[in-house]
Amino acid sequence: MPTERKCAGVLKTIRWGSRMEKLACLRCHSNKVKKHGRYRKHYNRYLCNSCGRTFNDLTGTIFEETKLKVKDWIYIIKEFAGTASKNAVHKESGINYGTVGRVVGIVLSSVEARQLLEKLTGDVIEIDEMYMSVGSKGTRQTERKPRRRGLRLRGRGTGDKDKPPIVGVTVRAAP
Ligand SMILES: [Zn+2]
Repeated sequence: MPTERKCAGVLKTIRWGSRMEKLACLRCHSNKVKKHGRYRKHYNRYLCNSCGRTFNDLTGTIFEETKLKVKDWIYIIKEFAGTASKNAVHKESGINYGTVGRVVGIVLSSVEARQLLEKLTGDVIEIDEMYMSVGSKGTRQTERKPRRRGLRLRGRGTGDKDKPPIVGVTVRAAP
């Protein structure tokens, strides 16, 4: 599995470009931004000279949603994609069960997380949207088989609509 240092490097490249050419203030979009110390050891903090805002490499991304290291996000998703249950990931890694669940849930809806995983591991995560009626929510979908190996996850509908969108995720190795 990648180190946190590697995760930080890849994340910066995705976000700011290989030469940091896309680095700009998150508030005013000025590119008069300079480095302003470190954040969580492997990440940079920045200061905008135009508006005075400070931010860091993780600001505004899903990765600031928990105190978990980015490499642990990757670990959880990889293990989960390998069909390990949330409980198994929790037991093997010692990461809080609720945190594992949150990470899985967030990644389902995150383009950033999928990009990062793809760059770090060569795996591709696909998100399929399908629709099922509330009446059959929680029942096994026998009419639609997974097209590839890997775990299929289903989101939870709110029941507000007749057919809440259900998201399925498949992880496959890159060819
Ligand atoms: Zn600014």
